[in-house]
Amino acid sequence: MTEANEQNEPKRSCPRCGEPIVDVLPRLPGRPRRWCSAKCRRAASEERRAAAAGAIATQYVQVDLSLDDHVQAVLVSPAACRRVLRDLRERYDAGELGDARWSPVADELQRTRPQPRPTVRWGAR
Ligand SMILES: [Zn+2]
Repeated sequence: MTEANEQNEPKRSCPRCGEPIVDVLPRLPGRPRRWCSAKCRRAASEERRAAAAGAIATQYVQVDLSLDDHVQAVLVSPAACRRVLRDLRERYDAGELGDARWSPVADELQRTRPQPRPTVRWGAR
């Protein structure tokens, strides 16, 4: 820090607009002012952010996907299908598909399994 002899501090100017920066004396504690005004400080901050983002303004848009869209997205991907099937199988084997809400899923799984007849073994693993 070179704030010991602020008497001899050279006149500074705003890096953004070039206006001289007038320090309030006695100077307030903390970092010396860098910008001439709050307006320039905010503008510079926004410019830095824009530069960091590649100067491309990106707007996040919430897209509402229907259940069909999600299902379709899974069905076109073998990797996604495998993950869903594996996850469901593991949940089934762990007895987690026994409640009323998930039992239709368990029924569908039963049909995909080559079993002569459904065995009742919820949670009996
Ligand atoms: Zn300025």
